[in-house]
Formats: sequence, C-alpha cells, structure tokens
Amino acid sequence: MPVIKPTCIRDLKLRVNLADVVGRMVTLRKAGGSRLKGLCPFHNEKTPSFHVDPDKGFYKCFGCGKAGDLITFVRDTEQLNFSESVEALGKRFGIVIEYEEGSGGPTHEERSLRQEIFDLHDVAADHFHQAFRAPDATGTFFRTYWTEKRRFAPELADEFKIGGVDAQGSALGTALLRRKFSEEALRRCGLFFIYDDAAITLHALRPRFRGRLMIPIRDHQGRIVAFTARQTDLTPADDPAREAKYVNSPETPIFTKGNLLFNLDRARTAVGEGKPFVMVEGQLDALRCWSVGLKTAIAPQGTSITESQLVLLRRYHSQVECFFDSDGAGQKAALRFLPMALKAGLELRFLTLAGAEKLDPDLLFLERGLAGYEDVRRGAQTAMAFACKAALPDPSGATAETKSRAAQTLFEVIGASESEVTRAEFIKEAAAHLRLSPLAAQKDFQTFLARQSRQAAARPAANADPEIPTPNSSTAAGGTQTPEHHLLLLLLHFEKLGPTLSHALPHDWIDTTHPAGALLNRFLGEYEQNAWPGRDQLDGLLESEAERSLVANLLFEAPAVEDPVKVAQEGMKQLRARALEPRLRQIELALANPDADIESDPISLLKERSELQRQLRAPLVLAAVV
Ligand code: ZN
Repeated sequence: MPVIKPTCIRDLKLRVNLADVVGRMVTLRKAGGSRLKGLCPFHNEKTPSFHVDPDKGFYKCFGCGKAGDLITFVRDTEQLNFSESVEALGKRFGIVIEYEEGSGGPTHEERSLRQEIFDLHDVAADHFHQAFRAPDATGTFFRTYWTEKRRFAPELADEFKIGGVDAQGSALGTALLRRKFSEEALRRCGLFFIYDDAAITLHALRPRFRGRLMIPIRDHQGRIVAFTARQTDLTPADDPAREAKYVNSPETPIFTKGNLLFNLDRARTAVGEGKPFVMVEGQLDALRCWSVGLKTAIAPQGTSITESQLVLLRRYHSQVECFFDSDGAGQKAALRFLPMALKAGLELRFLTLAGAEKLDPDLLFLERGLAGYEDVRRGAQTAMAFACKAALPDPSGATAETKSRAAQTLFEVIGASESEVTRAEFIKEAAAHLRLSPLAAQKDFQTFLARQSRQAAARPAANADPEIPTPNSSTAAGGTQTPEHHLLLLLLHFEKLGPTLSHALPHDWIDTTHPAGALLNRFLGEYEQNAWPGRDQLDGLLESEAERSLVANLLFEAPAVEDPVKVAQEGMKQLRARALEPRLRQIELALANPDADIESDPISLLKERSELQRQLRAPLVLAAVV
C-alpha cells in the first residue's frame, strides 16, 4: 500500500478550507463566531445541528454525534477510503499528493474498484459523445435525431455530454480494453453482459446498450455513475429490451437508482430564495428545462421517487415544485410520494395548467420557454389541493364508499405531516373537497391514526438500520465515562497541562484498549519526548477513524472547567484507584484466608500491601501550569 506523506496531509489541511469541502454538499449558514451550521448529511433532520469550525478544521453533528475533519468528511460522504479521499481532495484543490519513498504511488490494481468504475464511466461517456460528434453515418444520425426529433440545440449535447452508440455497440469494449481496466471493473460496471466463466476478451463483452441515444447520469457531486439509453431507429431488433423506450444501467458499486436524481449536481447550486427545485418526470424533460434557462429542474431516475432522494433534496432546499404530465399515471405517482415528501420536511407545490386537459411540460417549454413556466406557476396547487384532486377528481357524483376510500388515501398524506397545525388545515381542506363535515373527517382521521399506531406496534422494531447512527454513538464508542476520556479532553483544551501530566501519570495506569486511552497514552508519549505537534496538527498521530472522530468530538466540546489542574488530578486519582485497588483487594483476601492457596509468602504480601497503600494515599500533585 502506498503511504501518503504526513507533511502532505498537513499541507492539505492548511490549504483547504473545510467549509469549501462541506459546502459542496451542505448549505452552511453562520452559527456564531467563525462557526457555520447546516443540515447534517449523515442523518435526516429538519433543523441544522451539523456544525463546522473552519478555523479548527473539524465538524460535528450535535444530532447524531458524527464528527471529523475534511478527510473523514470526503471519506464518509463519497464512500472512498482514506488515501482516495486525500487524493480526491488533492485533485479538487490542485494540491500534488506525495507518497513515502519506496511505498510507490497507487497502481492500477490498488485503486479501489469504485474509483476504477468511476474512471471507466468517464471514458465511456467520452466514447459515446465522440461517436455522437463523429462525421460518419452514426454521428449524423444521432445529431439529426437530437436537433430535429428532440428539438434540442447541439450545444446542449456538448454541455451534458450526450452520446450515441451504433447498432453493434462493440467499439466501447475495444476502447476500454485498450485502457487496461481490470477484469473486475469490466464485469461490474453494468455496461456489458458477460458470462460468469468467460475470459475477458472483446468477444465476451456483449454490450448492454446498442443503437441508442446515451444520456450520462451524474450523482449529486457531478460524477458520471450510469447511463440512460433512449431507444432510436437504430436500436436493433435483437436488443433484449427492444420495446423499452428507456433502458438504464443496472445497479453497480457506484450506482443505486433510488439514491439519485438526474441533474441534482447542477440544480442544487441554482436553487435559492424564490428558486425552488422543479421535479419533472424524465431526464429529457429536465434537459428541456435547462435549455430554456430553468436551471433547477431534476428528475427521478426511472423508478418511482424514494425517500432517500427526497432527503437528499432537503439538504439543499425545502421547496419543490412538481411538474408532471397531467395524465393519471403522473398524478398517482405524485400521490404516492407526497407522504414521504412531507415526512422529509419538503414543501411541495404542484404545477398544472389551468383549463388545459392535457399538459406536456416538454411541449410547453419548447413552445413558450420560461414564460410557460411562469404561467403554470401562477396556477400552482398546494400539496393538499393536489392530493384531493388526485384522490377524487370528481366529488360531486361520488358515493359514500368512494369518498371514504379517497379519505383514507388523504389521511395517509395528512398523517405524514408532523405539525398539528398543518394536519388540522389539511383535514379542513380534505373535508371541503370531499364534501364531508369537518367534524366527521376529524373523527375519522383520529380512528385512522389509532389503527395506524396499533399496526405499528404489532410490527417488530424497525430501528435496526445500521446506516442511521444513534445519537452520540461516536462519543459512546470513545468511552465517554472513562477517566481517560476526561483527561484527553483536558489535554486537548489545556495543552499546557501536557508536559507535567506526561511525567506524573504512569503509562500502566492507562487502559489503552479503547480509543480515548490509546490516544491519551500516545499524546502523553509525544509530550514526554518534547514532540507534541500542537492540537491543530494531530493528523500524524491519529491512526483510525474512531480516533479521528473522537478527537473532533472533543475539540468541539468546550469543557466548563475552572481549574484544569485540579480536574486533571481528580482524573489521575481515578486512574490510580482503578489500577491499584484490585490488587490491594486481592492481597487482603489472601491474607484473610491463610488456608487458601497463596501465591507468595505472607511477608512479601504484607510488604506489597503497604506499598500499595502508600501509593494510593500519596498526594497527586501536578506542577501548577499557567
Ligand atoms: Zn447528524
């Protein structure tokens, strides 16, 4: 394994502002002093408890306890390992990463599979885009399809790296084999069908996409992770998905459909006051919006909208306008995700064209541009008005049975809101639409809630999701209650204690089997050798994720300590008692039972006892530090 030079990591941390790194994912606001805060990317929340201290270079979430520095942030949000995170930061901020001599830079094999599949997708996207631009028959076909059939500008194809693949699709395999991607990456990138036992040759790489328009799918950080392929006249008859208008990449190590929203990487930087996200149905709809200057459009990735997509959205902005085809399918889909959206804390509005029986967003924008958008915005419906309409389009002729079913659908939506005020408003609105008495609707809703909670109670506890950290899990892992933890906290906040504590505290009193103890021991060792680098330069001393997280947590805790020396002495006393008292009790037990099998003679036991007693009584004095 190549080892990155510690000086290089130090340099990175000095030159890169943590706020710039976090700011790519989290909208940060001032939180007093130099600190910033935003919505935690590690757990679902509606009020910000994720704090960033750019001066110290650490972040901490007071909701879930997750804490760390810029490297752990990249590591945890981008699912990279430590070295990859450093390399990614280096690349992003133009800092050259150097490796320890003899350890060798990362070779092809050593890069993680994920990183390799990212790279492979870059190469593939370039390849498809070159085919789209090529001055041959295939290129001409796709460019014509793009400009005449889809009525998009050529520049938009360049901007989004739109591509094409001919009816054979085999050129991609050639290009990737030439770039020497690993067998594992080729097998798992999702771009080919490969028999399990087949050796990787060009022949074995049977292309998944043939004769289709290729739309690169980027994750929220702008990395190409998959493709959506649109059927064209070139799609061959033997394509297993010939009839499918759109074919997506399968799930791969870098692509999970339910986690992704098309164009979020760009839209998230364009949202803001008065500029909500606009959710459209397909990628081409989103591209249409972009082409007329509506930069905040996003689209779910083929499948229905998931909770994690909505939570991801909420990180950047709370307002979402939904703009779906006004056919039944779009409405039904919206009705399904409305409860999830309310739960995620999103404010939804639905765009519809007043008086138009059928609304196609693509056509609207194509013909009227941004003016068309402004028009539909004026007639936007609230979430509840939309839900009512979708649940029961025509209440006037509805039977009691139909109304009751519609009410149940609406109760699902209403129940997802956590605010009592909102619920009451929603019920009023639903009752009016369904032509029910508000009182009866209120009562039915209570019955619905009661049944729902009975059903929830009957289900086994669903709180076993390992992805969602429990509050303060990281501090608990660091051993909150141990004296080592307290001393470490003191040491980090009162660095002047270090030299004296390092001489006064025997190593063997410290329990080094947990991170706080291991760090205390290591830090005191540094002080002993006059090598303490200062608390802002601890990288070289931190060896694991648990240690990084612990230190970040401790740096965020401002200890309410008036006399650090006294508190440190107290901590030492606890360590001493813990280290010596068990032996003392053992000796006393042995002396009280002379018949027992004693390991040594009573005289030496007595001697040892008085020595222990002396040690336990001895005053623990730390030289006063200013
Ligand atoms: Zn959190």
